[in-house]
Amino acid sequence: MSHSVTSFVCTIESLGFSGEGICRHEGQVVFVPHALPGETVEIQIIKQRKQFAFAMVLQLIHPSKERVQPICSHFYRCGGCAAQHMTYETQLLFKQLGIQENLRRIANTALQAKPVIGMDIPLNYRNKTTWKVALIKDTAFAGFFAPGSHELVPVDTCYIASESSNQTKNAVVRWLNHCLKTGILQNTLPIDQFTTRTNQSGELVLILQLTSSELPLADELIHQLQQSVQKLLCVCTVNDCKRVQVLYGQPLLKESVLGVSFQLSPFSFFQVNYKVCEQMYAYAIKQAVTDHNDVLIDLYSGIGTIGLIAAGSCKKVIGIERNEGAVLDARQNAAMNQISNAVFHAGEAEAILPRLVAGGLHADAVILDPPRKGAHRKVLEAIVQTQPQRIVYISCHPASQARDAAVLAEMGYPAVASQPFDMFCQTAEVENVMTFVKKSVD
Ligand code: SAH
Repeated sequence: MSHSVTSFVCTIESLGFSGEGICRHEGQVVFVPHALPGETVEIQIIKQRKQFAFAMVLQLIHPSKERVQPICSHFYRCGGCAAQHMTYETQLLFKQLGIQENLRRIANTALQAKPVIGMDIPLNYRNKTTWKVALIKDTAFAGFFAPGSHELVPVDTCYIASESSNQTKNAVVRWLNHCLKTGILQNTLPIDQFTTRTNQSGELVLILQLTSSELPLADELIHQLQQSVQKLLCVCTVNDCKRVQVLYGQPLLKESVLGVSFQLSPFSFFQVNYKVCEQMYAYAIKQAVTDHNDVLIDLYSGIGTIGLIAAGSCKKVIGIERNEGAVLDARQNAAMNQISNAVFHAGEAEAILPRLVAGGLHADAVILDPPRKGAHRKVLEAIVQTQPQRIVYISCHPASQARDAAVLAEMGYPAVASQPFDMFCQTAEVENVMTFVKKSVD
């Protein structure tokens, strides 16, 4: 089938999972980034695939009333956000409908996804931001990559990053350009990206990703940062081999979540949005733990966040996590909070859980929070073998979660609730918590 390269007018029918508009043209599906349902747009195909095509908007003929001016002037080029062109209510509805679609099509259930729990002010929420840096015509810039590319889009202010992350970025860029101007750097940069991590009291750790063995004028950088960032806690570098070198301060952030204190090392996983994370953990634990005598398994436990918060309301917590550093953090966090009813096992859930099951482990509830690809079937089988009453599944990838939901239903655990949380405001991503309850035998 041949498709014209010239433009044509169409009406957008729906939104795809990445927040792009979808329309049909000459019998094929066309994805149109930044177009909204109901809009009449003039578009041009820019990429033709066998089954579908991508197009760009040439002209907005009839805009949707859900359309708003993006807060960020870089929005249409930057790959960081995908939904700033729609009202926040529309963003939340779009995410709810996406989850609904996964439940219907993949999980094969009639369960309704609940409305997404969002933020009052859905901006400046990220506690971790990784800025990319590059030279453009002899000047250093920081920003983010354009969608699906490694082309830097320089960004003045990132509205989903914290204010202190933006201030840090300005100081780093100023230092790089100072080194370039004085001839200390020539044509190459000593870093290709840097990450800021902050806690709720505003303390900041900066991690610079080295491309060379030396950081020139490190004292100048620290001086610049001290001038610009109010609560600078630590500056460190990391090389290709993940070797961390501290240039200033201590690389440990302390954070309190729902009354439990945590210590985070620079590379430990932590949810990026503290406010939404607290609401999500509180909800997940309430869904899972119903009695003080409950035994809870915290699968994919990271630094022990969920299990340690739940420990106060149940008899015993068993955490399983493959990252040994994170397990050490979890044990240390347990000790720091004087929690003695939580144990953490280091290893793959696929190996550890079946072993514990073989040893006779029974659980009343399981909370699992796997990576994007979801849980291995072996893990789901082992969970069911612990005979829990309730399984609570936290996921940042509703499609793999829906696939696993179908497996759990098959094994006697139908889904009873799907509650999404807007952990990643202004983007197309969403976190979803599903609850499964053991089917009663009647
Ligand atoms: N529940 C934690 C961490 C969730 S992130 C929190 O809320 O902070 C997912 C975690 O799963 C990561 O820490 C990752 O190291 C771990 N992980 C990934 N694959 C795993 C596997 N096969 N077995 C055990 N842990 C795994």
